[in-house]
Amino acid sequence: MIDIHSHFFPLISQATASAMDAERAPWLRVNDDGESGHIMLGDRSFRPVYRALWDPDYRISEMDAQGVDLQITCSTPVMFGYTWEPAKAADWARQMNDEAIAFCARHPDRLKALSQVPLQDTKLACDEASRAQAAGCIGVQIGNHVGNKDLDHPDLVDFLVHCANESIPVFVHPWDMMGGPDRMQKWMLPWLVAMPAETQLGMLSLILSGALERIPESLKICFAHGGGSFAYTLGRVDNAWKHRDIVRQDCPRAPSEYASRLYTDAAVFDHDALSLLVGAMGIDRVMMGSDYPYPLGEQPIGSLITTAPAFNQEQRQKLLVDNAKTFFNLT
Ligand SMILES: [Zn+2]
Repeated sequence: MIDIHSHFFPLISQATASAMDAERAPWLRVNDDGESGHIMLGDRSFRPVYRALWDPDYRISEMDAQGVDLQITCSTPVMFGYTWEPAKAADWARQMNDEAIAFCARHPDRLKALSQVPLQDTKLACDEASRAQAAGCIGVQIGNHVGNKDLDHPDLVDFLVHCANESIPVFVHPWDMMGGPDRMQKWMLPWLVAMPAETQLGMLSLILSGALERIPESLKICFAHGGGSFAYTLGRVDNAWKHRDIVRQDCPRAPSEYASRLYTDAAVFDHDALSLLVGAMGIDRVMMGSDYPYPLGEQPIGSLITTAPAFNQEQRQKLLVDNAKTFFNLT
């Protein structure tokens, strides 16, 4: 099976991070045991992590144990650098992409990388997406927004048009969650409440703005975490489109019709949710993605689909393998 959503984090030193942004550039502190560590921001721990995140050989041993043939890996969103000065962020993205390519080169038949780009500058982002693709990446990962710019912003639409024209598949990951620490301090609420909303916001920004009418149909774009709140609330959005002209004003067709332009991963952790998602997106546009190796990822990888009673063998094959091959142009 193919896992299209996993993360890596390279062995970035504190000195390298400090040269970029001492407060906000992430680095990796590995504990003396070599097995565990922390992603750090300055002197504070952002997240405890373990060896699979930075060690490709160890990752392969876990993939073997869980029956994963190919894993597609990308930056951890804290690495995006979208708030930095563009030229600096472009240098950083280039470094991170070279790290990603080197990480996958240890096991070129088992690991493939998505690039990251300095999305705050459209020209630099297009240049780096194309450079990284030529250097071995099989697509690009972007955050679902850059500050106040959502995916319908002309700058981001231009980037997506570039990806469509250059046949670069796009994976959209939620990040920089709405709500803020005042209202979501505890219990991982930004991940549980705001992240699904960020993903839905990205999808609806493309749909309700009419941006998908202007972006070539060749664009391949996939949203993380089963599209967040998208599938469950699509009926509500269609109803609003039907009854309110301000919802229809930029969007000529019913919102649900645009689901056929989008893909999602299958990281929804519930059989009924997976059935709902496949119903909304179509059996050809959902791909297994685990969010490995983080604790909110699927364990064991792929088990939701392999145990889903609603799907036959042919349908599972699409969700586990074939749709990913089509999306990422894998042979
Ligand atoms: Zn993720």
